[in-house]
Amino acid sequence: MNMCPKCGRESKGVCLECFLEAHPLEAGEVKVLSCACGRLRHRDRWDARLEDIGKYVEKGLKAPFEVTLKSVRVAPVLEGSNLALDIAVEGVYKGEPFKRTITGAAKVQKTTCPTCSRKSGGYFEAVLQFRCPLPELPLDERQIAKVEKSDGGLDYYLLSNNYARGYASQLSRKGYAVKSSNKAFSMRDGQSVYRIYYSIKKV
Ligand SMILES: [Zn+2]
Ligand SMILES: [Zn+2]
Repeated sequence: MNMCPKCGRESKGVCLECFLEAHPLEAGEVKVLSCACGRLRHRDRWDARLEDIGKYVEKGLKAPFEVTLKSVRVAPVLEGSNLALDIAVEGVYKGEPFKRTITGAAKVQKTTCPTCSRKSGGYFEAVLQFRCPLPELPLDERQIAKVEKSDGGLDYYLLSNNYARGYASQLSRKGYAVKSSNKAFSMRDGQSVYRIYYSIKKV
């Protein structure tokens, strides 16, 4: 009878358990940053999704030569400053198929994302001046630097004028009257930098 030289289990040579103990399947290094607003950064990209991080771990999983991986499924779960990785592996060892769940983990480092650091610095590029009830069209929360009451309505201060312009043009297509005006607020490289104000009315 064949048995594992390490544990005595019936096996042709070293059994799977002993083999995996000596040569664990390893998830490559995973670096994740998180911001208090909930955004994640992975591989130079803010707004990384957990699924994408899972896909990355799936691709990076290293198996020893004796193991052939048939399928790898990774379910990442964010728990505070830990990213738990449940890695379900199907593979073949010495011609025998096997299934295993490996648990891995990655550290999540707390930091401030560019959007939040702009917000905390009082930065804004555009103001939507609603002079009508707020439209049905939702605004991206992460774009809003602050909201102020003003004569005749609410002023939404937004981080990006690109975003504000897109939002305003959607409103004008929905039949709102949108007027924009510029106000220079600083100089950069000898050029005036403008903030854009969009006055929005229902017609
Ligand atoms: Zn063994
Ligand atoms: Zn943030």
